[in-house]
Amino acid sequence: MASPINPSRIRTINDHPHRDGTVVYWMGRDMRSQDNWALLFAQSLGMKYKLPLAVVFVLMPEFLDATERAYRFILKGLEETERSLQQKGIPFYLLLGRPEEEIPKFVRQHNVSKLVTDFNPLNIVRSYKKTVAARIDAAFYEVDAHNIIPAWTVSDKQEFGAYTIRPKVHRMLPEYLEEYPPLRKHPYPWPSPVPATDWQKADRSLKIDRSVKEAGWIVPGETSARNALQTFLKERFAGYDTDRNDPTLNSQSNLSPFLHFGHLAPQRVALEVLSLSGRPIREIVDKEKNGSAANRGSDAALLEELIVRRELADNFTFYNTDYDSVLGFPNWAKITIAEHRGDAREYLYSREQFEHGATHDPLWNAAQRQMVVTGKMHGYMRMYWAKKILEWTASAEEAMAVAIYLNDRYELDGRDPNGYAGIAWSIGGVHDRAWFERPVFGKIRYMNYNGCKSKFAVDEYIRRMNELK
Ligand SMILES: Cc1cc2nc3c(=O)[nH]c(=O)nc-3n(C[C@H](O)[C@H](O)[C@H](O)COP(=O)(O)OP(=O)(O)OC[C@H]3O[C@@H](n4cnc5c(N)ncnc54)[C@H](O)[C@@H]3O)c2cc1C
Repeated sequence: MASPINPSRIRTINDHPHRDGTVVYWMGRDMRSQDNWALLFAQSLGMKYKLPLAVVFVLMPEFLDATERAYRFILKGLEETERSLQQKGIPFYLLLGRPEEEIPKFVRQHNVSKLVTDFNPLNIVRSYKKTVAARIDAAFYEVDAHNIIPAWTVSDKQEFGAYTIRPKVHRMLPEYLEEYPPLRKHPYPWPSPVPATDWQKADRSLKIDRSVKEAGWIVPGETSARNALQTFLKERFAGYDTDRNDPTLNSQSNLSPFLHFGHLAPQRVALEVLSLSGRPIREIVDKEKNGSAANRGSDAALLEELIVRRELADNFTFYNTDYDSVLGFPNWAKITIAEHRGDAREYLYSREQFEHGATHDPLWNAAQRQMVVTGKMHGYMRMYWAKKILEWTASAEEAMAVAIYLNDRYELDGRDPNGYAGIAWSIGGVHDRAWFERPVFGKIRYMNYNGCKSKFAVDEYIRRMNELK
């Protein structure tokens, strides 16, 4: 079978002459069996060289402040993915421990000659991938199965903002926004018996905080993700363009947890949006270029967030390894923050006070409560929430640390490039421009309570969040 995949989606980490053995897809960021370019590429290698194929996931005992909430989402999703893979003749191995040890061991034990993994720009993942690469004697490939246009293709540098990446995305989208080929039944059987996955043992292996419980409103897994997409498209999509910034309306897609854990491919979302809207991508892109923001339509608005903004966040974390610190801010922001370092703060709160939603501001506390209880704060409130952390801490360094800690701990979609980029935008002007100077913020864009009041029914939002159980 010729590779069904645009070769630019693939990067070679270790080149290695062909030898027989097995092919393994080390699944990381993209936890799904369907619409997965990394898995499709691994299968194409298996087909080409007539080799067996397996999928491996390494469950780490802890990961970047993730709690039981995130881990249960992962484990339940993987249970479904294992079943789907088995139906295709592809065994699934859940390894417990650290990738640096577990993957090289697996490669040796199972005579893996070709290892494929998915792309993830986060530092921690890049670091253990590098160690794995040095420890294995096999070809090793990385496939961007998350972005529609591979992160290394859309741009070769850190972009200044949406306005600089957008033309590149729009130019390349028609080539990359293609339908996925199906995953086929794999014809070459795995050479050794595959142990049944012990999901309970996996759960027991975790060294995580169990006090942050699962979110009741969302069911993990590929099927649930596709159902959630269809429900959104049928019931709420029409109002997305006009209503998504009102936190009292349920007008966002609520897909971010599925996209973050890879239960759903952004490319699938884009394809379904296009099929519903009936407009060709070129027309939407042209309208985006020419038309005003007010009348672009829900299709253009969603594709802007899903593709331009999301892929911009991947671009930021890919090219700026300081994405989670003030060192990653643009120079103008570093300067203005330094100039206002000594400004008196009207309120100062500790991390614990923020965490318990114990500030003087009922709107901020309500947003914090939404995140703690549901695992998903409304998108508009996230900006206000992070900017107030800058206003009410002693320094931008502290603000970054507090915001990242809370975001990564409570948000189902946390520990994601979107989170680091969103926080760096709010606190450090990343992807933004300088605004009018004011105390504490300097030239960083400011948001306040009255601004929110003019946009949505603040009291109603507060009331609803206070009723959350
Ligand atoms: C301070 C702050 C923290 C954030 N933390 C996260 C996070 O941890 N994880 C996360 O996925 N997003 C984060 N975002 C971005 C955005 O708020 C969420 O992606 C969005 O609210 C998720 O809800 P949804 O899926 O219903 O969004 P929708 O509005 O339905 O959008 C669909 C998809 O488009 C993408 N998207 C939407 N808005 C943005 C954006 N501003 N930047 C990048 N991609 C976007 C997401 O993948 C989202 O799932 C953060 C933003 C800010 C300002």
